[in-house]
Amino acid sequence: GSRFQVVEQGPPIEVFQKNKLFLEDTFQNKVNLTVGAYRDENGKPWVLPVVRKVEKQIAADDTLLHEYLPVLGMEQFSAASVSMLLGEDSPVIASGRAFGVQTLSGTGGLRVGAEFLNRHLKYNTFYYSQPTWENHHLVFVRSGFPNAREYRYWDAKTRAIDFDGLIEDLRSAPADSVVLLHACAHNPTGIDPTHDQWEKIADVMEERKLFPFFDSAYQGFASGDLDKDAWAVRYFIKRGFELVCAQSYAKNFGLYNERVGNLTVVTSDAALVPALKSQLTWVVRSIYSNPPAHGARVVATVLSDKALFDQWREHIKTMSSRVIQMREALRAELIKLGTPGSWEHIVKQIGLFSFTGLTARQVAHLIQEYHIYLLNSGRINICGLNPGNVQYVARAIHDAVTK
Ligand code: PMP
Repeated sequence: GSRFQVVEQGPPIEVFQKNKLFLEDTFQNKVNLTVGAYRDENGKPWVLPVVRKVEKQIAADDTLLHEYLPVLGMEQFSAASVSMLLGEDSPVIASGRAFGVQTLSGTGGLRVGAEFLNRHLKYNTFYYSQPTWENHHLVFVRSGFPNAREYRYWDAKTRAIDFDGLIEDLRSAPADSVVLLHACAHNPTGIDPTHDQWEKIADVMEERKLFPFFDSAYQGFASGDLDKDAWAVRYFIKRGFELVCAQSYAKNFGLYNERVGNLTVVTSDAALVPALKSQLTWVVRSIYSNPPAHGARVVATVLSDKALFDQWREHIKTMSSRVIQMREALRAELIKLGTPGSWEHIVKQIGLFSFTGLTARQVAHLIQEYHIYLLNSGRINICGLNPGNVQYVARAIHDAVTK
């Protein structure tokens, strides 16, 4: 017999499984609303023109080598990432209290940050929103956090934030709990706290001595404006919080498979930075030793050149406004059809996703009868919609809802 006989088949990862079912489906008008990746108005993936341009420059540059990067990655890249997140005139940058570590996309930033907090600050409880991105729980538990707790976030009845529930849950959190917060474009609900609500969240976290761990997977992609999308993180810093933030360039640069990310660390004491970096070095060393260069080179080049940066900002406007248009189109179609229920939430929600409120039964109906793929939670990737399929999707939703 095999030693491996003890290994049982694990469950599938829903989002990738549904994506695969979509790819294998031979129906002509099939629609993919599963995985969170941008699609253009023809339903095709989009390599940002500025990325293509820089990649061509890189390919033509015979001086570039494949030597190892430092364990904490490309300095120019992480400095540019910190500055993009905090704003270039941020006082914590000027006073040397913020630094970045290049990571394997957003997930890698979460992983390195969580292990660091658990191992070195001895934090062992983390709070995540109910619901949240389906990988948060796993990443934190595997990084060493024994205690996973939820804070209420989504009120299915009002299709809005359960703000009282959220505050109540944070108020009862033990000191030094790590609270995972979505910097903008909450996944999967698409609903962010208002500025007022963020202020109250900060009040409770300050009072209860909780530690903010921001997850910024959509900066610029949500509103089309990098500064607006970083408001919450900057506000917490202004309030004097020490924090970490995992940043992803998967969506806003369309660099999904290049695994480009950054972990920004903000401390109240600049003198601690060398020690923090040294321990982060050992965390990274034990997992993958050092990060890949290509994607970071692309991002660093774009972020450090005014003309390229401006071009990129146009691209994120293109993407975010197409998402907004499709929200409006879907709502308009449902209203036209007289589909029962309110569909306001589709346009109120921001970012890539809409938490439609469709039930598991309705989701199954859409998949089986219409070849429209979406998650069981009712989450849809809005940019899977385009002028060519939005009517079809609306009619299918109408049918599922009225059945
Ligand atoms: N956090 C959230 C909320 C996300 O939606 C995602 C992407 N789905 C990530 C983190 C990380 O993605 P990646 O590792 O591809 O950057």
